[in-house]
Amino acid sequence: MISFYPGPSQLYPQIRDFMLEAVDSGILSVNHRSDAYISMAGATIASMKRVLRIPDEYQVYFVSSATECWEIIAQSLILDKGSVHLYNGAFGRKWYEYTARLSKNCRFIAFDPEEEAPFPEGDLGEMVCVTHNETSNATQLSMEYARALRKRYPDTLIAVDATSSMAGCDLDFEQADIWFASAQKCFGLPAGLAVMVCSPRAIERAKAIGEEKHYNSLLFIDSMARKTQTAHTPNVLNIFLLGKIMEIVPEIHVTAERLRSRKRRINDFFENQTPFSSLIKNRAVQSDTVLCFNADKVQLKELKKKAASQGLLLGNGYGPWADNSFRIANFPAIQDQDYDKLTRFIKNFS
Ligand SMILES: *Cc1c(COP(=O)(O)O)cnc(C)c1O
Repeated sequence: MISFYPGPSQLYPQIRDFMLEAVDSGILSVNHRSDAYISMAGATIASMKRVLRIPDEYQVYFVSSATECWEIIAQSLILDKGSVHLYNGAFGRKWYEYTARLSKNCRFIAFDPEEEAPFPEGDLGEMVCVTHNETSNATQLSMEYARALRKRYPDTLIAVDATSSMAGCDLDFEQADIWFASAQKCFGLPAGLAVMVCSPRAIERAKAIGEEKHYNSLLFIDSMARKTQTAHTPNVLNIFLLGKIMEIVPEIHVTAERLRSRKRRINDFFENQTPFSSLIKNRAVQSDTVLCFNADKVQLKELKKKAASQGLLLGNGYGPWADNSFRIANFPAIQDQDYDKLTRFIKNFS
C-alpha cells in the first residue's frame, strides 16, 4: 500500500532497515541516562540542525506530539496577558482552543483560506501564534509573511506550528521563537515523537515566568536538554530513526525545491487532465506539502474505493471538507514513482 495520507504518512523506504539496525545495535535497551543514549541523541540533534539550518543558538527538544507542544507553550510561555492566534483552518483553531483552556486572555483572528494571513492589530498579549502549513485545507504561509510579521512585532514572541512542513519546507527559523513539528508528517517517521525548536528569547521568557509544575514544563525540558536528556523516557527508537534519516537526506533547500516542482507537476496534472480541481484557488497560499482537491461526493467514494483496491491510499478531506475533497501529501519520503502510479490511476479513473 502506498499512502498519500498527510499524517500518519508514508515512511521513508529505508525505515525498515534502520529499525532492524536499531534493534541489532542494542540502543533500544540501554538506559536513557547512559553515554550511549546521549551520544546517539546528540548526533541526531546535530544532523537535524545541519540539514534544516536551525541556528546554533536555538535549542531542540524531543517531546511526544505537536498537541503536547500547544500545551507546553500555553503553560510555560504565556502568563496572563494571553496570546493572539491567527488561523484559517482546523489545526490553527484547535491550537487556539487548547490554549484557551489553559491560559487567560487569548484571542483569535480567523481569516479566509483563499487570502494571505492578515497582521494582527491592537494588543498582542504575550505571543502571536500562527500555523505555517494548515494541513486541514492545504494552505501555507509564505516566508515573506513570517519576515514581515517579525519585522512588525520585533518584541513579541512568535510561535509557529510547522507540523506538516518542517523537513519539507525551507523554514527561516530566525523569524520566530518557537517552532514545532511531529515525526509522522514531513519527517517520514512513525508517530510518537515531536521536535520543538526554541530561540534564546523564548527560553529567557520561560525563565522570567518560572513555571515548573509539570513534567513537561519548558524550564525542566530545557534544563534536561542541556545535558542531552529528557524528563521522561523518550521515544529512543524514533530519535534513532530521525538521526538516520537526517544522515541520508540532502540539505533542506534541495528537498524544498524538489517538493515545489513536484507540487507544480501534480497540480498541473489534476487541473488539466482530471475533473478534480484544487480546493484552494489562490496559488500564493497553496501549500507545498499538502494538496487538496475537490470532488463530488458520489465520485469521491468511488475514487477512494478504487484507489484502495489498487494499493493507493488517498487522504480524506478534513472537517468541513471531509465529504467533498481529498488530500494528497507531497512529503519528501514519498517517491516520485509513487506519484506516477497515482496519476496513472487517476487518468484511467476519470
Ligand atoms: C498533525 C498536526 C497536528 C497534530 O499533531 P500530533 O502529533 O497528532 O499532535 C498539529 N498541527 C498541525 C498543523 C498538524 O498537521
